[in-house]
Amino acid sequence: MKILKNPTAITEWSCETTCTECEAVLEVDSSDISYVFRSQKDGDDYYAKCPFCHTQLYLSTSSMPRAVKRALDKRLSNEEANSRDVSNPF
Ligand SMILES: [Zn+2]
Repeated sequence: MKILKNPTAITEWSCETTCTECEAVLEVDSSDISYVFRSQKDGDDYYAKCPFCHTQLYLSTSSMPRAVKRALDKRLSNEEANSRDVSNPF
């Protein structure tokens, strides 16, 4: 096979957002995202926490590269699995 273009390894992503509560202007990168809201209708929505007032901020991830999204989903599902109470089957 002849490679015409190497895959682009995009691992960095950030976006600028303004806190809806305290109006702090923040640059959020994928490592800051620690909340995911799963809704069957809209798919996955991502949240970051404002460092000042701890408000959960909705992030538009439409500009997020797929590779970053995948890595983020993997990290979040690992965290979810680790935080799950294994003594409670429900
Ligand atoms: Zn805030």
